[in-house]
Amino acid sequence: MDRGAAQKRIEELRREIEYHNYRYYVLDDPVISDHEYDKMMRELIELEGKYPEFFSPNSPTQRIGASPLEEFSTINHRIPMLSLANAMSFEEVMDFDKRVKKLLNTDEIEYVMELKIDGLAVELVYEKGEFVLGSTRGDGYVGEDITQNLRTIRSIPMKLIKTENLPIPEILEVRGEVYMGKKEFHELNRERELTGEPLFANPRNAASGSVRQLDPKITAKRKLNIFCYAMGEVRGITFGSHMEFLSSLKAWGFRVNPYTRLFNKLEEMFNYYNYLRGIRDEIPYEIDGTVIKVNNLKYQSILGAVSRSPRWAIAFKFEAQEETTVIEDIEVGVGRTGALTPVAILRPVLIGGVEVSRATLHNEDEIARKGIMIGDTVVVSRAGDVIPEVVRVIKEKRTGNERPFVMPEKCPVCNENVVRPEGEAIRRCININCPAQIKGSIEHFASKRAMDIEGLGEKLIEQLVDRGLIRDVSDLYYLKKEDLLSLERIADKSAQNILDAIEKSKRRSLARFIYALGIRHVGEHISGLLADKFRDIKRLSTAKEEELLGIKEIGPEVSSSIVSFFRDKKNLETIERMLKAGVTFETKEETRKPLSGLTFIFTGSLKSMTRDEARTKVEALGAKTTSSISKNIDYVVVGEEAGSKLDKAKKLGLKTIDEEAFIQLINRHQQF
Ligand code: NAD
Repeated sequence: MDRGAAQKRIEELRREIEYHNYRYYVLDDPVISDHEYDKMMRELIELEGKYPEFFSPNSPTQRIGASPLEEFSTINHRIPMLSLANAMSFEEVMDFDKRVKKLLNTDEIEYVMELKIDGLAVELVYEKGEFVLGSTRGDGYVGEDITQNLRTIRSIPMKLIKTENLPIPEILEVRGEVYMGKKEFHELNRERELTGEPLFANPRNAASGSVRQLDPKITAKRKLNIFCYAMGEVRGITFGSHMEFLSSLKAWGFRVNPYTRLFNKLEEMFNYYNYLRGIRDEIPYEIDGTVIKVNNLKYQSILGAVSRSPRWAIAFKFEAQEETTVIEDIEVGVGRTGALTPVAILRPVLIGGVEVSRATLHNEDEIARKGIMIGDTVVVSRAGDVIPEVVRVIKEKRTGNERPFVMPEKCPVCNENVVRPEGEAIRRCININCPAQIKGSIEHFASKRAMDIEGLGEKLIEQLVDRGLIRDVSDLYYLKKEDLLSLERIADKSAQNILDAIEKSKRRSLARFIYALGIRHVGEHISGLLADKFRDIKRLSTAKEEELLGIKEIGPEVSSSIVSFFRDKKNLETIERMLKAGVTFETKEETRKPLSGLTFIFTGSLKSMTRDEARTKVEALGAKTTSSISKNIDYVVVGEEAGSKLDKAKKLGLKTIDEEAFIQLINRHQQF
């Protein structure tokens, strides 16, 4: 590339990146994936490095985030909130390590490795232990004042906990990442889909859009959380290392990520990176990599910062979970509420080791917004357990043979009319006897969080409905063994197992039953409220709208949906038949917690938490803890410098686990 072409490309990239910064940071509505963005940024950094004569202080490579929105008052950060340099390979991390060691003139460096949580950075200011101010990172120097919104996040302490050996500093600025968990993100989008609001592209944008609301009441409804990981200005206490700072944060009551580890060998760090990459999908919130930080704070200040990032830290990102493929067709599925959902049928492609052949297109407005046609070459992303999604069309690859997609006017399953209610983005089939809706509602009824009928999956339900053996959920309770044996690949034993599972489901809580009915707008939470209030399905079925509106959290939309559900004679008959078949309600929900029945003992000291914290964690999950060794113990958690208990445990042949395995165990069962 000659100088002229380079200049042109630099300008083009700057313009493009500025536009995407605006979409991402200001509107919380990106139109390209992070991977595409990172590629452009890398190209720009490289070109600016090669042609320093085109340097500009206004280049996106020199700037952090975006200026605050005018609607918010602003806050000046006493210490700039920087971004992070990126590494995409082991070699780039080795280069970072070499640079650090060279600048510090030493070979002995300890690094802390943390998860890179995909949320948005905020700063929390505490004066004499009281939370006084909270802000976004903004452009790194000036952020938006979101104090009131942050007060609604329950895991942010309003007052620091006082402990014996840790003073409350005069001023403490704590930085962390506000995020939305994957489950909460799905729930929010599902709700928005029902109400026809635009969907959030990913949990990061949902978190950012939720925290940057002008009305804190909206933020309060949005199930946000935080992990704290950095300091700003601190007066009245000093720390020697980052780890020391993190453990003080924990003692003051902040949430610190449990995957944080200390290393002094690159090789071990790389193993840990691989391990984290492997469990990425299991972690209940999105992460896009790890962050490596020099542990010693004196070293950090010697290293300082360059333009937009510190020299003592680097983000070691995971590779993109996205690929390019072709949309071969668009099919329309019908859900249990009759909603028609377009699905892209893709030329199969491996993304992050998983074969993807379908991706959701959400609804017709999304298709129009992204300009998708059948035959298009598209970028598809798969993030964590998020359903694969078409990110964007590569319009340059069009050949002219692409076809526009038109949503059907008739239900693709039962051929009845579909309607698109005003203000909603979704078309629905209104035929309550539509087999797709029947199958969907039975699947929902039998699902784990509803009546939990083990073994009654999609395939079996499909056969049962297609053969006319069940027409609604109540028929499940009248199924006979012969019915099941008449189906393909069902032998005597599995038929009996299914009947047993159906029988077992006759005794669930009322809340589960209400949820299982699949009333529109009535999710698990509302079902719980209804069960608490009415305690009886008959009482609920005759409830008036005013009575329902008396329940806090129930608005007109939900109440009218409940009333019209129970006004339908067919629904009442279905419930009656189930009660006749012996469905009764456990008044107390089975509160079996994931670790109930297990006993833990701790020996030695743990690095990432105190023993008390560890005990509290397992007890919250239902386990018992003890301090005297016996053969009734299920897990011996072995920390550093373990004492005589370990020897005894070995003699008794008890199961021992180290801190890492312990953390994995609790993380597997804990919802952050
Ligand atoms: P970054 O996200 O690459 O890294 C810095 C940020 O990481 C910090 O500000 C902090 O918020 C976060 N972080 C999470 N865990 C952390 C931890 N343990 N320790 C320290 N920091 C932690 O940089 P950025 O400047 O915030 O954003 C740039 C990135 O945003 C891009 O690489 C891209 O992925 C994305 N982006 C995408 C678009 C788009 O259009 N898709 C546009 C702009 C930016």
